[in-house]
Amino acid sequence: MALKIYINGTLYDKEDAKISVYDHGLLYGDGVFEGLRTYGGKVFRLERHLDRLYESAKAIWLQIPMTKPDLTKAVNETVAVNNIQDGYIRLVVTRGAGSLGLDPNRTSDPQVIIIADSITLYPKEFYENGLEIVSASTIRNHPGALSPRVKSLNYLNNILAKIEGLQAGCVEALMLNHNGQIAECTGDNIFLVSRGELLTPPIDAGILQGITRDAVIELARQDGLTVREIPLTKHDVYISDECFLTGSAAEVIPVVKVDSRPIGDGQPGAITRKLITRFHELTRS
Ligand code: PMP
Repeated sequence: MALKIYINGTLYDKEDAKISVYDHGLLYGDGVFEGLRTYGGKVFRLERHLDRLYESAKAIWLQIPMTKPDLTKAVNETVAVNNIQDGYIRLVVTRGAGSLGLDPNRTSDPQVIIIADSITLYPKEFYENGLEIVSASTIRNHPGALSPRVKSLNYLNNILAKIEGLQAGCVEALMLNHNGQIAECTGDNIFLVSRGELLTPPIDAGILQGITRDAVIELARQDGLTVREIPLTKHDVYISDECFLTGSAAEVIPVVKVDSRPIGDGQPGAITRKLITRFHELTRS
């Protein structure tokens, strides 16, 4: 059976799910999105994702043409109709079709798109042995240009950083902010373990407030760990005992090398492994 894609209230077969080439989401990256996971047919932290989506939209003066309860229903129905158990959801809201100019007032009909599909996970070895990453020369969005808290359809600087990573043979790359501090990776937040404490950059370091990040902070605190959201530098990364990344797609994934330097003893650390287990329990129980 063909996958059904939701666009503005209608479910289309995948090959018929189309939007206008005049849509400003395509022409200018004018829109917002979310990436969500389903576990056992249930969407993980849907409410938090929808809050972030509506906040991103508000920040770019985009009115999502439906209420949160209606969008909640639409997401759940799209998951159910496609019989997605452990999968991935891409939720996109574009500015809609307009004229060939920037003016958002000359667009109409924002497009609300829901794709519920299977997910291609990182190979198991990455979780067992840890990732090697490199720091990229491309920095995260300057907050004075576009707040990194907005999950917009403009991901080009993250893509450029990702290309830097891929060219170095790494699937993720570390991005700094405009002050030279650690921000996050191209599609994941970053954590360090140092002297038994969990450290992660604060939101005002210019990062996306990851929903997995928040969940991991909660789990760590429940386990009695001290979690500190503080500005970090590459030096802090290089001298850390453990490092891991968090994201809806990657979940919790260890990092064992950064810029060719082994982190800790070069193996996924004990606290990282514990949090992987705890996150697994949270999502699969
Ligand atoms: N940072 C960036 C830049 C991202 O794109 C993502 C993925 N959405 C994350 C962090 C992780 O966020 P979440 O845990 O909400 O998926």
